[in-house]
Amino acid sequence: MADRTEKTDQEWRESLTPEQYRVLRKKGTERAFTGEHCESMGEGTYRCAGCGAPLFSSDAKFDSGTGWPSFYEPVGHASLREEEDRGLFSRRTEVSCASCDGHLGHVFPDGPQPTGLRYCINSAALELDRSDTTADG
Ligand code: FE
Repeated sequence: MADRTEKTDQEWRESLTPEQYRVLRKKGTERAFTGEHCESMGEGTYRCAGCGAPLFSSDAKFDSGTGWPSFYEPVGHASLREEEDRGLFSRRTEVSCASCDGHLGHVFPDGPQPTGLRYCINSAALELDRSDTTADG
């Protein structure tokens, strides 16, 4: 069970950058190829920019060519919440942080092996922690 981080809207506004707030709290999507983690292949753990929970390892990152950081698996499924997101013309699965409910992106069934999944995540929702790969502080 993930530790919960709960803040008021005002507290989120004060603790996040405007872009992080727009993505994490308002389910925004950053423009393709604009995020800092899109093409970087830095090693470490990608943590939630809202609460610091470990979400993805650089080991599972791959270049999807979409313009958003892409991973074929999360660090642990308990760290994410996945929910059907029914739009007018599309059905997607929304991915959010289980600890703070921050919107991260979507998961699609067209990723590489071994999972066949593509977690398409906004850079603004992630912070790369280069100091570790698995440990949660
Ligand atoms: Fe979070």
